[in-house]
Amino acid sequence: MPELPEVETVRRGLEAALVGARFSRVEQRRPDLRFPFPERFAARLENRTVTSLGRRAKYLVADLSSGEVLVMHLGMSGRFLVRKEGRSSMPGEFHREHGGESAHDHVVFHVSNGATVTYNDARRFGFMDLVPRSELETCRHFAGMGIEPLGHELSGTAIARLFRDRRTPLKAALLDQRLIAGLGNIYVCEALFRAGLRPQAPACSLASASGRPTRKALRLAAAIRDVLEEAVAAGGSTLRDHAQVDGTLGYFQHAFRVYDREGGPCVTPGCTGQVARIVQAGRSTFYCPRCQR
Ligand SMILES: [Zn+2]
Repeated sequence: MPELPEVETVRRGLEAALVGARFSRVEQRRPDLRFPFPERFAARLENRTVTSLGRRAKYLVADLSSGEVLVMHLGMSGRFLVRKEGRSSMPGEFHREHGGESAHDHVVFHVSNGATVTYNDARRFGFMDLVPRSELETCRHFAGMGIEPLGHELSGTAIARLFRDRRTPLKAALLDQRLIAGLGNIYVCEALFRAGLRPQAPACSLASASGRPTRKALRLAAAIRDVLEEAVAAGGSTLRDHAQVDGTLGYFQHAFRVYDREGGPCVTPGCTGQVARIVQAGRSTFYCPRCQR
């Protein structure tokens, strides 16, 4: 499942091919992916210019000159292949296996700048939708969605406000998409480790009685941002080095400090702890019982 940093890397990789350009032709090769395509999908895209390409949680959001927004989700196995001037790239392949047969090329965007952008999705859990720009925030994809973890909204103050009345474990609160959107299990484990916070602690322990952020909340906000930005940067380096886009696992996976390291030594200098694994709400949590308190 692509995590948020991967989607952000895909966004950056697609930006050069799409923004400012027009869809000259769109091939839609099946009626549905996870959901049916919207009516007249190709016709509503053709001859429209992409004015910007953004991201909200794990969705790509392309603004069109028609006033509609093309919303795209990669699901479990979705990927884009960009071909331009005889070169090809596949942005964002940094912790999934490679291997996209052309039988799974479901949408081909022919772009006025000469690029071809192909959407390949073997398992078809991804989807595409068209939504009027004015209804984007209230549409079924984004209504009730929490704040963006890689934007300016996430701060110690925001965490204190969101968590102050919640007695659920910190780990569960961080995975709650209604509070913070798009933060996956790996990055939650890594951020809690960097902030030195125990995953089982009640979420409300990050706010003072008056609702102000504690030092822990400030540390957590910084740790979330750092871990996501490093992962995006690692994806970017994969993007530049096509030799890595061959099925080998990406760089960032080797940089995990606790995730998937059960029994391994804690990497905190001077800490003699071992990474432990527990299960919270059906998901594995990895943490150091010594330095996460
Ligand atoms: Zn430790």
